[in-house]
Amino acid sequence: MGIGQPDFKTPEHIVDAAIKALKDGEHGYTQGKGILRLREAVAKEIYYRRKVTIDPENVVVVPGGKVTMWHAILMFGGKGKEIIYPNPGFPIYESVINYSGAKGIPIKLDIANNFQINFDKFEDYINSKTSLIIINFPSNPTGGIISKNDLDRLVLILEKYPKIKILSDEIYSRITYDEANFISLLEYPQIRNRVIVLDGWSKTYAMTGWRIGYGIWPNKYAKIAEQMNINSFSCTNTSTQFAAIAALQGPQNSVEYMISEFDKRRKIMIKHLNQINGFECGESKGAFYLFPSIKKTGLKSDQMENILLNKIGVAAVSGNSFGRFGEGYLRFSYANSETNIRLALKRIEDYVKKIGWNA
Ligand code: PLP
Repeated sequence: MGIGQPDFKTPEHIVDAAIKALKDGEHGYTQGKGILRLREAVAKEIYYRRKVTIDPENVVVVPGGKVTMWHAILMFGGKGKEIIYPNPGFPIYESVINYSGAKGIPIKLDIANNFQINFDKFEDYINSKTSLIIINFPSNPTGGIISKNDLDRLVLILEKYPKIKILSDEIYSRITYDEANFISLLEYPQIRNRVIVLDGWSKTYAMTGWRIGYGIWPNKYAKIAEQMNINSFSCTNTSTQFAAIAALQGPQNSVEYMISEFDKRRKIMIKHLNQINGFECGESKGAFYLFPSIKKTGLKSDQMENILLNKIGVAAVSGNSFGRFGEGYLRFSYANSETNIRLALKRIEDYVKKIGWNA
């Protein structure tokens, strides 16, 4: 339950589309930012899901969602700049911010307020050096989502700082539960000219190993992002781009099935984790992660990770892998079969009953 990738197969019609593309001779370079048909399909998808009209010229296809974050942080980072990012958060943000020479300013997220951003204090993070703010909902590793009310508050703050760019990591946008409703920062026209959306196929269509994602870039930066593609990898794998068109345009029942399976597992895990002595797990409404606090066990996150792995064969990720404010937590991915999840929970329960956390 360590790695963050769906335990489902890429749907067959998507695989077939890639094979067909290769057989049809689609194996040359493409335009740096991706083939037009794919960028048009993304624009259509954005209109369908977010009710926002975008120009396919603003879509930049990349080999995995990660590349959009790499481009954005390198574009707006560097010495003398500050970048605000969630902590605990996807570890690559902090790593690339440091690599760029910028100073990372962590937004502390806490189980006490369900891993939401505290907007009363948000402006404390901002100063004249702030160049970029990274937002990620549904979140890795917390599974948290953001309410419309909080997004409205964030946008009101952003309107006061027109020079700051925003990277909205929406890679889990399709994976929400219960009444949770995904809203994109792209839906706010007042800031659209400085929002970069990161999304892709990895999670939604179980395509992590295909390496494909996309960024939606404001006019001013789309060309630069494309140039960064050309200067490094030229273009994203051509047959994969055809597969990605099939994913967006084909049947979505496999996505719906995957999410309903995740939801079942999520409920099982929340219930059982809260019954384990020393664990406290919130009702996360997105992605496929739970991020329980283990503070009451008296163990550090690394110690807990080690005990679970080495004593009972359960892999989870230490909270501090997601930044210093992740200490005291553990990330479980429920992208694993219900059988394995039940087995893991039983092993943890048995371990606590027999040995306890203080042994
Ligand atoms: N953003 C977040 C929050 C993620 O969790 C991940 C992958 O785990 C990515 C981006 C990158 O996705 P990809 O595999 O498409 O590069």
